Amino acid sequence: MRNHPAVVEVAVPRPLRQTFDYAAPTGLPAPVPGMRVRVPFGPASVVGVVTAIRQGSPFELKAVDQVLDDGPLLPADLLELAAWLASYYHHPIGDVIATLLPAKARRGAAASLADEAIWQVALDADADAALARAPVQRAAFARLCEAGSVRSGGLAALAIDRRTLAALRRKGLVVRAARRPAYVLPDAARLTPTAAQAAAVDAISKTLGGAAVHLLDGVTGSGKTEVYLRVIEDVLRAGRQALVLVPEIALTPQTTARFAERFGAAATLHSAATDTQRFDTWLKCSAGVHRVLIGTRSAVFAPFQDLGVVVVDEEHDSSFKQRDGLPYSARDVAVKRGQLLGVPVLLGSATPSLESLENVSRRRYRRHRLPQRAGGASMPACRIVDVRGERLQGGFGATVRAAMARHLDAGSQVLVLVNRRGYAPVMLCPSCAWQAHCDHCDAKLICHLAGGVRSDLRCHHCGHRRSIPAACPACGGGELVLLGVGTQRVEAALAELHPDVPRYRIDRDTARSVRRLERDLDAVRSGASSILVGTQMLAKGHHLPNVTLVAVLDADSGFLASDFRAPERTAQLIVQVAGRAGRAARPGEVLIQTLQPDNPNLLALIDSGYHGFAAAELRVRAAAGMPPFAALAMVRAESRDERAAIRLLETAAAALAGERIEVLGPAPAPLGRRADRYRSQLLLLSSRRRILQRALARLARQELKAPGVRWSIDVDPADTF
Ligand code: ADP
Ligand code: ZN
Ligand code: ZN
Repeated sequence: MRNHPAVVEVAVPRPLRQTFDYAAPTGLPAPVPGMRVRVPFGPASVVGVVTAIRQGSPFELKAVDQVLDDGPLLPADLLELAAWLASYYHHPIGDVIATLLPAKARRGAAASLADEAIWQVALDADADAALARAPVQRAAFARLCEAGSVRSGGLAALAIDRRTLAALRRKGLVVRAARRPAYVLPDAARLTPTAAQAAAVDAISKTLGGAAVHLLDGVTGSGKTEVYLRVIEDVLRAGRQALVLVPEIALTPQTTARFAERFGAAATLHSAATDTQRFDTWLKCSAGVHRVLIGTRSAVFAPFQDLGVVVVDEEHDSSFKQRDGLPYSARDVAVKRGQLLGVPVLLGSATPSLESLENVSRRRYRRHRLPQRAGGASMPACRIVDVRGERLQGGFGATVRAAMARHLDAGSQVLVLVNRRGYAPVMLCPSCAWQAHCDHCDAKLICHLAGGVRSDLRCHHCGHRRSIPAACPACGGGELVLLGVGTQRVEAALAELHPDVPRYRIDRDTARSVRRLERDLDAVRSGASSILVGTQMLAKGHHLPNVTLVAVLDADSGFLASDFRAPERTAQLIVQVAGRAGRAARPGEVLIQTLQPDNPNLLALIDSGYHGFAAAELRVRAAAGMPPFAALAMVRAESRDERAAIRLLETAAAALAGERIEVLGPAPAPLGRRADRYRSQLLLLSSRRRILQRALARLARQELKAPGVRWSIDVDPADTF
């Protein structure tokens, strides 16, 4: 039989659901799975990743142009994860692989840790046979034996070129030195764990040798972080690495600080980092230089030399779900990764997702509870304040105003949660009922202030801005009025009510400057009497010991939103923000000001806490046949032509005929038009995930196409927007 060159399967960075075959290059080192290669693709030359090597084929294949790495850039476990992502999310493998790689790696940048990589002779190197017929390598090896070890930068001085080094590595004669910086684990700064913390750490640490999912279900302020730290300590002692996923890093620098303080160092990976920093951190995790990585969503794809545990803090947080591109849930991917690697995954929350609670009921996850606050603090008292028929002042009723004055007088801090940023969400003409809408979206425009005066109207969906009309554009009539409150309006009202108390506003407008945010939070933590106003950003994990009053102005209106997850999200938000109150010595008070004091969700939450609410909501979901009692997927389509998007989804629905799944729609999305594109959706449900997955696989194979229409599959959608 003739000897054909090996076939190299390559995932190319295109939204295509297959890999492509190339001939192994002649005269270059043979590529292995996980390496990047440059290959011709149509008229272009692209950077792809080798997914597999097969026996030679008699067919004429184009050859790989260039092999970009000395060893696999994507380790085997990430290649395996990529294959799972492509099949679970029905997403093109080329896109999946591109998502896993840092931007610089996608562009083909050299994967070199200039100063970090250290090469040494393998302990059990048996060079004589392996190098008998390679005099150049033999000489290089001899020089390396003499030197003992060498940094990448010193290779030239030893007259060892990259290709020789790669050959020696392939033969197992030279290895990268394991750099395992000693971790300082100071005993002094440690807290004595509570009985509940100790029990959780014990139970979790017992499972460090294999795959297991733990749910750390601990009330706000119960000391979940201390449990993570102790489990990670055990992992580091065993010489392994730890990955910690958090919803936001910029917002919670003190979390990173606590890890760094405990372990001497903790690397971070988040969206604010530059491409160069990201790639560097990524490579250092892969090389085992970084032992602890804290990151947001996409850090779940970081490579490790020897990962020992994955922690997902605030596992209920919807920011773990990616909305565009590959619509993955970092929490679910973390669980899968733990399973593939055979390591435990630790999910933590005071308000666990209904999915995770159901997984506990089905005994897939093990639950550990921390029912009390650590360090002697008590849970805050929660009360509903009915403001129906009352005249509000900048959004505040009399009860909340009085409570604020009381807490501020006592030298404490007050936190006010408002659902919306900006000044006022509605601009209305009292004579003809005209309202300011975005020209490009089905949404109202929000009035914003700049420098204390009404500056413009903004769309929070597409960013469109327009000036404030002097008169009603519809009837030309009198003065337009502003209804509703946003964070800026509340801030303005507080300036009148408490002119002498420092105020800090925290929402997406002010958080654009991380510096300012940190400065503000530092000022608040320093303890002087002050008021914080903000959106849900304020609910995220901050430890603000001097806040004793939390006022929720309109968050409970979220219970009425149309999304099936709205009640769960709203309950989590209220409990999390309430959890900022009374976290230290002084007891906390929480007031929920509402226009719907009889709302059953709200009452359940107040009367029986998050778990009582969750149990009731799980019954609602079960009765409705919704997740977590059914598998849900959504097919979304959008186009400038409203009909075209709907027609494509009708074709999709027809293509699914005969599958034993429930198909709802097509129907316009709740925000039917956004930035001049019409959005429609098709909901697919089945009580059996396998059946839904089979239907989706069939749909994905159809390769539906219509001019100007973008469509995508979203498995386990986080919301229906
Ligand atoms: P959670 O993440 O559960 O909301 P944190 O981990 O932020 O809670 O802990 C809340 C506070 O309790 C922190 O100030 C922390 O230092 C403190 N704490 C945690 N565990 C203990 C303990 N065992 N003894 C005393 N204080 C503790
Ligand atoms: Zn009018
Ligand atoms: Zn808009």
